Amino acid sequence: MFLNNFEYFAPQAPGEALDLVGRLGNKAKVLAGGTDLLLMMKEKMIKPEYLIDINNVQEFKGIHYEPGKGAVIGAATKISEVEHSPLIREKYFALHQAAGELGSVQVRAMATIGGNSCHASPAAETPTPLVALGAKVVISSLSRDRELPLEEFILGNRETALAQGEILTKFILPEPAPKSASRYAYIGLRDAMEIDAVNMAVNIVLDDDGRTVKDLKFVMGSVAPRPLVSVKVPGLLVGREFSGELVEKAAAAASGEARPISDIRASAEYRREMVAVLARRLLQEAFDAAKEA
Ligand SMILES: Cc1cc2nc3c(=O)[nH]c(=O)nc-3n(C[C@H](O)[C@H](O)[C@H](O)COP(=O)(O)OP(=O)(O)OC[C@H]3O[C@@H](n4cnc5c(N)ncnc54)[C@H](O)[C@@H]3O)c2cc1C
Repeated sequence: MFLNNFEYFAPQAPGEALDLVGRLGNKAKVLAGGTDLLLMMKEKMIKPEYLIDINNVQEFKGIHYEPGKGAVIGAATKISEVEHSPLIREKYFALHQAAGELGSVQVRAMATIGGNSCHASPAAETPTPLVALGAKVVISSLSRDRELPLEEFILGNRETALAQGEILTKFILPEPAPKSASRYAYIGLRDAMEIDAVNMAVNIVLDDDGRTVKDLKFVMGSVAPRPLVSVKVPGLLVGREFSGELVEKAAAAASGEARPISDIRASAEYRREMVAVLARRLLQEAFDAAKEA
């Protein structure tokens, strides 16, 4: 379980970090919390010659909010900061819930929100709510910044749209709509330190009448190589009055849309069942919260 020899850099400014990433190319890896990276190095899955530690770059960290515009979360922000942020709890509840479920207190103190998306595990906790909340990512290199919806950034299992010389620097979350609410939940084999068998996030917007669904984003995790954005569930609910009957149809549709595999954590069949269970629960919880918003 020893690490290979590598050279360690700790840039203090964004330009310095981007210069290193550009110059060292694919011989280097960005080190954020290290909770995925160092395990992969210990297991000899990768042997980077250089590590570029971005933890001293203040511009890559923190949560900033502008009323009416939304929030910006630096990619190197610790999961624990996201979990305990009153702003995230108030405005982006599904992300608050997911951050609180990632690993343990110790893991959340080290792990970053950027690392969770860049590692691109199909079972990752935070990409599911971030996609449901309409998050965009900012990807930076020495020559330019570009923005992408998070759902286009994560391409598959351990695959992202990052090109050589680029770092994920920020997440941009839009201001939540009036009469909206988001919710997140997961199913795992035990209550802590597990890898999700299924996770899910719902972001619902209601009309002024407080009954009709105006907009809905419904995202499933761990049932496809990347966060799976449902087409059928919004198709059933948007423009209609929320009802138990529609929720039943939506749960069945979501279960049909999921593309799970069987592995050591759960069978595909069990995962499909759990998609329906979570869909019923989260749609109802998000609707009840949006009515009160
Ligand atoms: C005990 C344990 C329990 C865990 N439980 C969970 C869990 O319940 N849910 C869950 O989702 N995850 C879990 N994880 C996985 C891990 O903690 C998360 O994926 C974490 O968010 C990774 O972030 P990090 O900052 O540690 O990333 P790192 O390990 O530093 O990096 C991960 C990968 O992303 C790249 N990278 C990181 N940041 C950037 C950036 N800004 N730009 C470009 N590339 C970047 C790195 O080069 C590396 O390839 C667990 C891990 C452990 C060890």
